[in-house]
Amino acid sequence: MEDTETLWQSSLSDPWDREHLWHPYTSAIDPLPTYKVTGAHGNRIILADGTELIDGMSSWWAAIHGYNHPEINDAAKEQIDKMSHVMFGGLTHAPAIELGKLLLKMAPPAMHNIFFADSGSVAVEVAMKMAIQAAISRSGSHSRTNFATIRSGYHGDTWNAMSVCDPVTGMHGAFGSALPVRYFVPQPVSRFNGEWNPDDIVPLRTLLEQKSDEIAAVILEPIVQGAGGMWFYHPQYLREARKLCDQFGVYLIFDEIATGFWRTGKPFAWEHAGVQPDIMCVGKGLTAGYLTLSAVLTTEEVARTISQGEAGVLMHGPTFMANPLACAIACASLRLLEKQPMSAILENMEASLRKGLAPARELTDDVADVRVLGSIGVIEVKQPVDVGRFQRECVRRKVWIRPFGRNIYVMPPYITPDEDLAHLANEMIEIIRSGKWK
Ligand SMILES: *Cc1c(COP(=O)(O)O)cnc(C)c1O
Repeated sequence: MEDTETLWQSSLSDPWDREHLWHPYTSAIDPLPTYKVTGAHGNRIILADGTELIDGMSSWWAAIHGYNHPEINDAAKEQIDKMSHVMFGGLTHAPAIELGKLLLKMAPPAMHNIFFADSGSVAVEVAMKMAIQAAISRSGSHSRTNFATIRSGYHGDTWNAMSVCDPVTGMHGAFGSALPVRYFVPQPVSRFNGEWNPDDIVPLRTLLEQKSDEIAAVILEPIVQGAGGMWFYHPQYLREARKLCDQFGVYLIFDEIATGFWRTGKPFAWEHAGVQPDIMCVGKGLTAGYLTLSAVLTTEEVARTISQGEAGVLMHGPTFMANPLACAIACASLRLLEKQPMSAILENMEASLRKGLAPARELTDDVADVRVLGSIGVIEVKQPVDVGRFQRECVRRKVWIRPFGRNIYVMPPYITPDEDLAHLANEMIEIIRSGKWK
């Protein structure tokens, strides 16, 4: 073990990088370690010293087909030789049209119009702008400009996306009064596979009864709350929320940026509840982790209402809108999803993760909860994880897992073989058992 340890330490924390490059959510002067990667293929990440790590993260939900997929690589090369980018104002192209068609085939049937944006956070901004423009146009009232959401959510890092993130674990502390003030109700406590407790919906009903004339939309991550707490909640919440939104004339936005493209075992998480949103955001897995691209899908009603409103157009238009290279890559990824038995693949992943993580339930001193849905496996521990220490242990054990808060979780690429799923689960448990994470 000593030898391999010195070996991978040569991949650790490049001094120039440490001095100059900001990494996400870590100090600029005393950053957490970073490991230098020279390549990745399949479900393996290769470090500079040659160490191969089994990937448990899909690079933050994105690399759904693993790395360096030959068909996606070919699609990228073919497109780059035609054009990497042209503006979308006044021009259009086959990759955007094909991607639009593929997305509508997969999306809730009510979706009709698509806006391509740059990243997940920007998709959330666009969805919120859509909701405001449509709400003002539909109600004729300029007061319908606020939003409601549930606690423990995560919707991205830009201004309005931050404003609907959980007020405690999110950015509200750091940005204080700079953030617009939104309406927060408690997150549903009814578990995904548990009993529905009708009390869960009461706070949203009460809020809409009192404030719906100020609210443009309710925004939710359907079924799985991701970076805000890795919580899986009961589908009935979405059905009730849909009814309330209809009753009070409020739009419903589903942020499917993390849950989309089969991550929860369905093409999109709304299908667990069978209720459709008015506006839906997708990102992350859209380009299989190759490039940044997102999309906001909406109904014909919302698109028409905005177009008949004061501005007559949706007031957004990013420079790299519908980037052809990103669209061509996304098309290749969606075609891969279409031609594989994804439902069976995800059922198998879920079963493997359930089996692999089950022994964690016995570690009752440290483990608060174990939950699995689709290809997401979570061990919630009883105290915050020391991420630097945990990851050091991961790399020593040749797996790549990045916990946050009290959640140690994996969401591996769909191509991950059973034995690697078992290995990931086992190493999560062994690290907890070793105590080298506190
Ligand atoms: C990651 C994420 C976002 C933000 O996406 P970025 O591409 O990082 O801007 C928004 N919503 C949810 C649910 C996410 O998981």
